Amino acid sequence: MIRRFDAFSDNYIWGVEICETMCLIDPGESHQVLKYFEKSSRLASIGAILITHLHHDHVGGIGKLVSSKFFGSDDSILLNGSPLVGGLPIFGPGDCQKYGVEQVVSDGDIISIASNTFEIFDIPGHTKNHVGYFLKSEDNEHRPAFFCGDTLFGGGCGRVLGGDITDLYKSLKKISKLPRETLIYCAHEYTETNLKFANENFPNNREITKRYEKVKKDRENLLPTIPTELSCELATNPYLTCKNFKEFKEIRISKDNWKG
Ligand SMILES: [Zn+2]
Repeated sequence: MIRRFDAFSDNYIWGVEICETMCLIDPGESHQVLKYFEKSSRLASIGAILITHLHHDHVGGIGKLVSSKFFGSDDSILLNGSPLVGGLPIFGPGDCQKYGVEQVVSDGDIISIASNTFEIFDIPGHTKNHVGYFLKSEDNEHRPAFFCGDTLFGGGCGRVLGGDITDLYKSLKKISKLPRETLIYCAHEYTETNLKFANENFPNNREITKRYEKVKKDRENLLPTIPTELSCELATNPYLTCKNFKEFKEIRISKDNWKG
């Protein structure tokens, strides 16, 4: 099961439960997770932390989580088939080491925990270094899931904040090749604003309008819109439906200057 923790004003921290451990993705804060563990009798420990990129709202909770009594290094975790050689199971890109990452990962690396694997994808663009984690579960405990940080959002994509727009375009192309049924777990609840922008700019796209109406209702009822299925993004996310890089860049710049 994949658990959602709300953080800051619009961040999500994801917790993948595997056997008796939880694997946390992008814990920018710690108190929500620690509160959950205080109350839960079922889960034994936080077994691993996966970081997508260096922004504070993704790494800020590492220190407190690792020093808590709930952090228990799990010997069964493998990186590319081998046990970890030194260091805690805190995975992420190289430039996140100063924020607590102890196992540097990049494209093609595989983290295994019990019968679950996370394949690492380099998806730069929002920041210079940014990875995503593709979760596959051999026993179908989990649907295919992709933890993409701030690269792809519901109905939108990350801003270029230290990365490169050409890289961002390529990264989104890469994500769009994942299985269509993949659930996208991004790190922010931005879907409604993104679709408002998309609906204004592509008024003739009925799929976008339909999704925008649904998302508006969901948000009125305080429901999360994440995860979203990749097939839905491929049909309604303007950064994935655009024809080429030129069009992509125009949409990204126009959104950056959009007042909403
Ligand atoms: Zn970010």
